Amino acid sequence: MKKIAMLGITMIIVLLAVFYIYSKIQIDNYEHISIVEKTSANTENESFVYTFPILDIVTINSWRQNGGFYRDLTLGSTGTDVFVLEKYLMAIGTNLSKADNYFGTETQQVISDYQKQNLILPSNGEFSGITKSKIYQDLLSSYCPNNEFAEENDYILYPIDRTNNIQQDYVPPKLTVLGSSVNTSGIICLRGDAAQAYTSMYNSMKEDGLDMKVTSGYRRYELQDSLYDYERQSLYNYPSVAMPGHSEHQLGVAVDLAPQSLGYEPTTKSMKFTKEYQWLSDNAHLYGFVLSYPEGLEYITGYTYEPWHWRYVGIDAATNIYNSKITPVEYLKSLKLFPNLGS
Ligand SMILES: [Zn+2]
Repeated sequence: MKKIAMLGITMIIVLLAVFYIYSKIQIDNYEHISIVEKTSANTENESFVYTFPILDIVTINSWRQNGGFYRDLTLGSTGTDVFVLEKYLMAIGTNLSKADNYFGTETQQVISDYQKQNLILPSNGEFSGITKSKIYQDLLSSYCPNNEFAEENDYILYPIDRTNNIQQDYVPPKLTVLGSSVNTSGIICLRGDAAQAYTSMYNSMKEDGLDMKVTSGYRRYELQDSLYDYERQSLYNYPSVAMPGHSEHQLGVAVDLAPQSLGYEPTTKSMKFTKEYQWLSDNAHLYGFVLSYPEGLEYITGYTYEPWHWRYVGIDAATNIYNSKITPVEYLKSLKLFPNLGS
């Protein structure tokens, strides 16, 4: 009788153990499945729902070049930074009725409500301290979003041009904000590998006694769209601006550079005659960068000569392009890495 009871208890323990292990596997499976579902949802439909305030390119450039939110804002403040803050507050769904460059009582009330919803923030209706850094970080991540689902090497050798485009919601992997150590004009980011390569190239150029500024890097689709719209009104720049979805800037691999010897003037063809340009022509490939739109080859590249626009393709490809003297886009197409592209 005692033996039967012992056997019974042992069986119950074994059954409980089996049930426990089984339920654990189920939970693990469930968690695994839910991660997979999350990934596919993010790469297909509702990918990258960022709170992106709709701002025209002139406003956003002026805001970035002034150093973003460089000062505290309070009742009575006016300026572009107030406007950008108000646009941001509207984009995240607060009930601010208008963006009017003026930090009035309505803006103050909305800030105060925003602070109450974020318990870590002090509820003082002011745009300062951690309230300012939180909104700044949010805004920054909408310009340099973190795409944790992108493949490490995706699209680095993609021959984007007037014919071949990239989907609207494409965001490169590991976008990195370039630090002030590389002399940027405002908030600029590149994909991680390109940012690292750019930093070493810049440091090496500095060691040779030359200097330059990065005036543009990654541009999300919406910014390219705004830039295209803006430049379309100007006959002079129109031929050199890429349509949204067709820009190397959306790949996060391209930088626009401005040399010190021209007072850091951006996007000027005179860059051709500078020693900084000469240095880049001789050395950029050693760091994986190439000149995307060389002189006299518009009929191949589709773009007029842009001595300021350099693209990261990695050291191997850049060295091959340097040695073969063909345009980057021709070289990238010849690799046939993307079978469904137009030629
Ligand atoms: Zn460019």
